[in-house]
Amino acid sequence: MAQHLICSQYYSYCQETTSVNFKILGESSLFAILQACAASTRKSMAGIDNYAANGFTGFDNLKKKCDELAVFHVSIDKVVQLQKTLQKCRNYIKIDYKTHMSNSSTIADHCSVFGLSDSKDNDWNEECDHTHTDKCEDCCLLDNTLAEIELILKDNDEMTEDIRLRHLTLFNQQRNLLYEWKKTSTKTFCHVFNNCLQNSSTVISILEDVLKRIKFDHPEVETAYIRCDNAGCYHDSETLLAVKALFDSTGIFIRRIDFSEPQTGVNALHIG
Ligand SMILES: [Zn+2]
Ligand SMILES: [Zn+2]
Repeated sequence: MAQHLICSQYYSYCQETTSVNFKILGESSLFAILQACAASTRKSMAGIDNYAANGFTGFDNLKKKCDELAVFHVSIDKVVQLQKTLQKCRNYIKIDYKTHMSNSSTIADHCSVFGLSDSKDNDWNEECDHTHTDKCEDCCLLDNTLAEIELILKDNDEMTEDIRLRHLTLFNQQRNLLYEWKKTSTKTFCHVFNNCLQNSSTVISILEDVLKRIKFDHPEVETAYIRCDNAGCYHDSETLLAVKALFDSTGIFIRRIDFSEPQTGVNALHIG
């Protein structure tokens, strides 16, 4: 059944987007292709929050790298300690870090204005009206642990220069992934209903509530970009037609609604 649906979608897509000269594949070829690569459910953070997915990968790879250090005569106790600390830092970024963020923190790592400013580009730069003189124990722990791993790689006598260079390059890649994850903060809203249908009315009421809360906390927000999967309740015309009513009731204009590929992206709201 699903295969017939995919074939008919292919034919309507070809009809809408291609000229008469385009050679459309026959039904038997399409079925042969679908037989060879069937649709499957994907369970992964990729597509929902790529930064978090990459951050998880970064931490996992660094923990594996610590295992490799044992080969170069780094003590097992040290390896275990580094891995435990990395796990602690991972949990900190995943859970606690976002609750420490604010627009006016005296800790540089927790100040979103400072964190999101690009010192090389004036259009994306904002000066803070406070100083960043305080430090956060947990953020320092991550910095110090990464610095310690880097130092071990740089100072180890057992490695040849080639191997050292390879390890350092891989280490830097993982470190970038962690800091990219740390830079992007997400806020999660959870709505609980006693009873409701998964339809556009429910989606509209959730959107209205989320946008109202965001407007209350950040009155400067005027536009939003919505990303959702292809479920009927999202691409329902009622949801799309509600954009104006949502703007009237919340003061935030939805400039764009993107539909990710089916099964790979759910409900990320980008606020601008
Ligand atoms: Zn600041
Ligand atoms: Zn911190």
